[in-house]
Amino acid sequence: MADKRDYYEVMGVPKNATDAEIKKAYRKLAKKYHPDLNPGDKNAEVKFKEVNEAYEVLSDKDKRARYDQFGQAGVDPSFGGGAGGSPFNGGINIDDIFNSVFDGFDFGGFGFGGGRRANPNTPRRGSDGQATIVISFEEAAKGCKKTVHYEQVESCSDCHGTGTKDGTKPKACPQCGGSGQVRVSQRTPFGVVQTARNCDRCGGSGKVIDNPCTTCGGSGRVKQKKTIEISIPAGIDNEQILNVSGRGNAGLNGGPSGDLHVYVSVRPHPIFERRGNDVWCEMPITFTQAALGAEVIVPTIDGKVEYQVHAGTQPGDVFKLRGKGIPRLSGHGRGDQYVRMAIEVPKNLSQKQKDLLKEFDAGANDKNYQKRKTFFDKIKNMFSE
Ligand SMILES: [Zn+2]
Ligand SMILES: [Zn+2]
Repeated sequence: MADKRDYYEVMGVPKNATDAEIKKAYRKLAKKYHPDLNPGDKNAEVKFKEVNEAYEVLSDKDKRARYDQFGQAGVDPSFGGGAGGSPFNGGINIDDIFNSVFDGFDFGGFGFGGGRRANPNTPRRGSDGQATIVISFEEAAKGCKKTVHYEQVESCSDCHGTGTKDGTKPKACPQCGGSGQVRVSQRTPFGVVQTARNCDRCGGSGKVIDNPCTTCGGSGRVKQKKTIEISIPAGIDNEQILNVSGRGNAGLNGGPSGDLHVYVSVRPHPIFERRGNDVWCEMPITFTQAALGAEVIVPTIDGKVEYQVHAGTQPGDVFKLRGKGIPRLSGHGRGDQYVRMAIEVPKNLSQKQKDLLKEFDAGANDKNYQKRKTFFDKIKNMFSE
């Protein structure tokens, strides 16, 4: 217990803080570290417990007084504080503390998952649905309309979502008394922590059905195949997700539907490669074109563009076609297209071609091959030292 942080430090309040200040600090911290807002974050979970434990003591006049006087020993059950009819029973019920402070507090659509809801009949937003579409490179660049097929959980139309056969009503679950929750005590380093979890019998709904609807099996919900046409904006990229509001799974107890997440997969293009909003491609030209210069036709996503390759173009030289890239998703402007020159050395030469090249080479000099000259000059200097 010696390594426990000071409760005032945990709450970030001075020793003489008022009840209101402590409560305010708790609201802030509990919201910050709440497991539902930090899924899978172990550190947040530990912090959340720490904050709750600190608040449990500091919000209680007696416990706070004992803590101020004796420190940890004054409030920790392992020090015997819980013996002999002490009001402190060693049990921390995070949910009760939480509900008392956050009564009616809305976390803006996050909702508290599963076990923490006091009332199983509270309206809950439906979960988000998922769909995948595959589009071409050009469709991604220009935008398109696509039909998306997906599955959506809907309220069962035969029983209007009640899950019962016509005329019957669900009754309160005998196991949890209709609350949908059962409490579980767990021994932890902080003492006994009670947590609530969903009742096994009714799955947290608090209701059981004797005569279930045959269409939905009593769940009140059915999976339906759906199609929807969506507009894919120009500039969408591979692995981006489009959100279609309200087309996800139906909510519970009259809550709103979730959203539909459409995962976009863009097929690779045979010659274009996308980097951000720029398009790259490699353009093969002959070594004669590179040496003499030439007018070439360059493909772009807008169609063919004429380009003047200048004389003396080297392998790997890159030129830019401004504004020929992918439109930005924001709708403002476009990227550029970059074209890398790939100079092809001819193969399978005829005797005549060979003779011509030899004749050409015989007349070549250092001015024709400046890189080569520089290279050999460097070597000469290297060996003369
Ligand atoms: Zn139950
Ligand atoms: Zn039904």
